[in-house]
Amino acid sequence: MLLPGDGIGPEVVKEGRRVLDAIATRFGHRFVFSEHLIGGCAIDAHGVALPDDTLAACRTASAVLLGAVGGPKWDDPKAKTRPEAGLLKIRKELQLFANLRPIKPSPHLLDASPLRPDIIKGTDILFVRELTGGLYFGEAGRKPHASGEEAWNVMIYNTGEIERVVRMSAQAARKRRGRLTMVDKANVLEVCRLWRSVSAKIMAEEFPDVKYDVVLVDAMAMHLLSRPRDFDVVVTENLFGDILTDEGSMLTGSMGLLPSASLGTSGPGLYEPIHGSAPDIAGKGIANPLATILAVAMLLRHSLGLEQEAATIETAVDAVLAAGHRTRDIAAGKHSIGTEEMGAKVLAAMA
Ligand code: NAD
Repeated sequence: MLLPGDGIGPEVVKEGRRVLDAIATRFGHRFVFSEHLIGGCAIDAHGVALPDDTLAACRTASAVLLGAVGGPKWDDPKAKTRPEAGLLKIRKELQLFANLRPIKPSPHLLDASPLRPDIIKGTDILFVRELTGGLYFGEAGRKPHASGEEAWNVMIYNTGEIERVVRMSAQAARKRRGRLTMVDKANVLEVCRLWRSVSAKIMAEEFPDVKYDVVLVDAMAMHLLSRPRDFDVVVTENLFGDILTDEGSMLTGSMGLLPSASLGTSGPGLYEPIHGSAPDIAGKGIANPLATILAVAMLLRHSLGLEQEAATIETAVDAVLAAGHRTRDIAAGKHSIGTEEMGAKVLAAMA
């Protein structure tokens, strides 16, 4: 299922599809595509950010590839609905409770990061952000207050929600370097004290072979910038994960390079670049399609079990960067190529 969305979404998803077509030809697969609306374009067409037919179609798909949603056209805070509502709803409806974001700076792009190459070299982190609980889904409200108004959002998690995402993270750690770090704020928040006790129990009972530690979120914000190499798999709740993964994205230098996967225990996974719809460059043909192309690799690996095909794409992207091809966001002012040309370079490298 292709959900191109808004802004540069359609431009980068088009390149993702070209890569899937090339994989099909090379490995003898047949992918059946269908395309639906989500986000601002869906609000324009149907008045809602996630139309029922989009959701129904996604439920029957093997996997979903999403571009991005949003843009200034739909930014009015008084609007009845916003494009982002489509994202929250699809995650909740498909029970995509774990968001996986690999952060592995390319050795060919160490200069693209604002951090010193000696700090980021060798970094290879898999962030797992809980995606369907916490503050973003808890009760929210406003009421009058002597000074004007007061507002609240409730951070809420139950044992089952914590168990399933910690378990998925520990399983991922087992397939990697065997280390799991849980990030929380247990010195202040009761919710985090529940995270800590539930995680400790699961790790002791089910994953004695995985080295497990806990780090406070404020400390983690520093460690990510000072010693990112020390982390393997990192699991955390929704809000902390939202912030830390964007911070982590700067280790690689560009949002245009990072894919993500949102997974549940059953049903289709949702794969997307981590960047937004980039309205400032939409329609110019200069968006970096590599994050979406790498999301396609994650899709093949996690939803279709096609490891060799996934690795073929990742190797091709690495070769393209090694050969010095750059879109504008990672060109550091030097010569750059456009979205389609970058897609074509990846196809050529795959061949
Ligand atoms: P953004 O990620 O769209 O853009 C931030 C900056 O990075 C911009 O300068 C943009 O040009 C650049 N950029 C992003 N992706 C790029 C790419 N592939 N190639 C080259 N440059 C790239 O974030 P924003 O500007 O804060 O948000 C724009 C819109 O996107 C907003 O409406 C926001 O709500 C939405 N958004 C959507 C998602 C999503 O769909 N998952 C995520 C974040 C933001």
